[in-house]
Amino acid sequence: MSVGFARKMWALDCPTLTVDAVTLMYGLTGKMTIPMPAFLIEHPKGLVLFDTGIHPDAIEDPVSIYGQELADGLGIGGTIDQRIDRQIEALGYKTSDVTHVISSHLHFDHAGGHFLFPNATFYAGQGELAFAHFPAKLGSFCFIPEQVAQYKNWTWREVAARTDLDLFGDGSMIIMSTPGHTPGEVSLKVRLANRTFLLTGDAIHLRAALDLEWPFPLDYDTLSAVHSLLRIKRMAESEELSLWINHDPDDWAQYQHAPYCYE
Ligand SMILES: [Zn+2]
Repeated sequence: MSVGFARKMWALDCPTLTVDAVTLMYGLTGKMTIPMPAFLIEHPKGLVLFDTGIHPDAIEDPVSIYGQELADGLGIGGTIDQRIDRQIEALGYKTSDVTHVISSHLHFDHAGGHFLFPNATFYAGQGELAFAHFPAKLGSFCFIPEQVAQYKNWTWREVAARTDLDLFGDGSMIIMSTPGHTPGEVSLKVRLANRTFLLTGDAIHLRAALDLEWPFPLDYDTLSAVHSLLRIKRMAESEELSLWINHDPDDWAQYQHAPYCYE
């Protein structure tokens, strides 16, 4: 296998959610504010997004996108400059420059901006599309039917369960099947010249859960979720990589964000 690198990676500063902490991890109390980042990655063969955050219009008008009850529970915070399209443009790209969108999964806080990239090729784990259309009752509120209805118009590639997909065939961007939170949850390993990151999506929500090896309270399949968590934990212990738990506020504070660019 050839050895290649992604050129640049930016963590896009998407809005935050403020939710009851117990919905994130068993035993927590009070409220917790969590980031919902998306990542823009430049590779010689394409411009890649890992997740697209919430629907950009939900920053100013969450009720029109999510309805009163869900909007009230989400506590969305952010400014209009945190719209994902604006952040991409602020880095000098057009949304039409994005060639690949990798969806950690299709919950509203990760796939809300997908509609901005209708000409990209979309990637999701096996079973994710079917599950988005016909979700299990637990957690079904995380799929927004009007958004799911658009998926049929786009080009999708599914990553087979329990396998990894080498996106550009050079080992620089590996889409890893890490199911459990949803059937098609995937993580992304990004190798840059100076640093390798593993972006967990929602395979893990908080670093405390990684330490305790606890699943998320609303996982679709708890046993698979724990297996995926342990797989990621073992990788982080044995390989030289930086684990970025995407919703973890401390991880967000520890790493740098756009316009800073990892190379
Ligand atoms: Zn999430």
